[in-house]
Amino acid sequence: SANIRGKQSGGRIGLNVKNIIAVGAGKGGVGKSTVAASLAYALQQFGARVGLVDADVYGPSIPHLVGTSEKPVAQEFQNKDGQAVTRIVPVEARGLKVMSMAFFVEPDQAVIWRGPMLHKAITQFLQDTEWGELDYLIIDMPPGTGDVSLTLSQLIDLAGAVVVCSPQKVALLDAVKAVQMFRQVKIPVLGIVENMSGDVFGRGGAQEKGKELQIPCLGEIPMNAEIREKSDSGNISELLTEGLESQQYLLKVAENT
Ligand code: ADP
Repeated sequence: SANIRGKQSGGRIGLNVKNIIAVGAGKGGVGKSTVAASLAYALQQFGARVGLVDADVYGPSIPHLVGTSEKPVAQEFQNKDGQAVTRIVPVEARGLKVMSMAFFVEPDQAVIWRGPMLHKAITQFLQDTEWGELDYLIIDMPPGTGDVSLTLSQLIDLAGAVVVCSPQKVALLDAVKAVQMFRQVKIPVLGIVENMSGDVFGRGGAQEKGKELQIPCLGEIPMNAEIREKSDSGNISELLTEGLESQQYLLKVAENT
């Protein structure tokens, strides 16, 4: 079970989540958010209670991918000492609890986040949000940078990180950097997912790089028109529909994670 360490109060504030998993990538556009959201829905299909945090400040796309236009609301709760506290209730998208940077900024607004602001936002997502009891909290990380990872490693005990990459050589080099970044902040890397695997970009690079880094490859997700369509139209949960080709790839990634 993960616990938020309350730095100022000195006490420990319980976040009732069994496993917190960060999903990162060395660069944008490799399908990190798509993998994060489909991992969340796949775990849900296994019967788990799941939350998804969109911490990708540079391009928060989770609300779009899961097809929600709702905003989270603030509500009063009683803490364990019986005091009233205001907490944020996450949005629900087909059973998945969701929080996103996108809820708090206007679309198309260029956001420049400085370290302290970033730290504050992430802390609110974890500490001031009423997640309830969860088996998994998936965190869609911003690509590349170490700021958010550092904040997370200071606040909570993560089960580990999943690194998403595409099979091209350059993308793999970026993935190696992402792996090193997580290791630097002492977040264990659970494995690499090769996305957009297939004819155009090649295949099997993640497997090879994984061996070099002594990290398992959690799965290869091919370039697939359905994945693009369903994620672009906000129906990513439908990729987990029984019998679809995408379902088998995505369940396998979740199983291996
Ligand atoms: P990132 O979070 O790494 O920036 P996204 O998850 O937003 O990337 O994906 C970028 C684009 O690629 C989206 O339009 C998405 O629908 C598409 N995409 C992601 N994975 C696949 C895939 N396996 N096959 C086809 N399209 C994909």
